[in-house]
Amino acid sequence: MRLDKFLSHMGFGTRREVKGLIKSKAIRVNDVVVKDSSMHVNEKVDQVSIYGEVVEYKEFIYLMLNKPAGVISATEDSRDQTVIDLLKDDVRHFNPYPVGRLDKDTVGLLLLTNDGALTHRLLSPHKDVPKVYFAEIEGRVDESDMEAFTEGVILDDGYKTKPAILNILSKGPVSEIELTITEGKFHQVKRMFEAVGKKVVYLKRLSMGSLKLDESLEEGTYRELTEEELDLIK
Ligand code: URA
Repeated sequence: MRLDKFLSHMGFGTRREVKGLIKSKAIRVNDVVVKDSSMHVNEKVDQVSIYGEVVEYKEFIYLMLNKPAGVISATEDSRDQTVIDLLKDDVRHFNPYPVGRLDKDTVGLLLLTNDGALTHRLLSPHKDVPKVYFAEIEGRVDESDMEAFTEGVILDDGYKTKPAILNILSKGPVSEIELTITEGKFHQVKRMFEAVGKKVVYLKRLSMGSLKLDESLEEGTYRELTEEELDLIK
């Protein structure tokens, strides 16, 4: 690929800005000062450095965000803060986007990436990727709800949900539950509880496939996936 594209992708400014760096003799390829920004490099073989610092090329970025409430799962919005607004410039230039959506008031695990193939696999309705949610439900959730969710419930638009696993953690005026679903319909968890006459008052996603939310991440913060985590979802 062209050297200026390589450096631009890695966050060293626009192609024009990269040209400036080249003019000031800041860039070397395999220890030779570069004079021409249209030069091509093989990102797997060539060693590119800026002011003596080697630049490791990577095409994709994979971020785990603990999404806070009040932020929307979109790349841009004229009114609301988006999950992308939470990112610092050093990862933003990779142009990551959220893999699927969480509602504005939902918190928890959100994967952000620029890897289209992985996104497609994780969101494909044919792949049945399980997603686990913790929720607080107004009303007493009981065994009849477990059975209904195993059977599938009819949502407000007539759609019958696929079998889902409901685990009741506590019963009370506000019950605590864990729910595993393999679909991602709009407001799915909230609508499933509506279908059994109950209301979700707090919703948090705990996992997606084998990827679990790192509970040490404070809401609103993120980190890159580890190699092990990436292997779990790839
Ligand atoms: N189901 C919902 O109702 N909302 C979410 O944000 C995710 C799943």
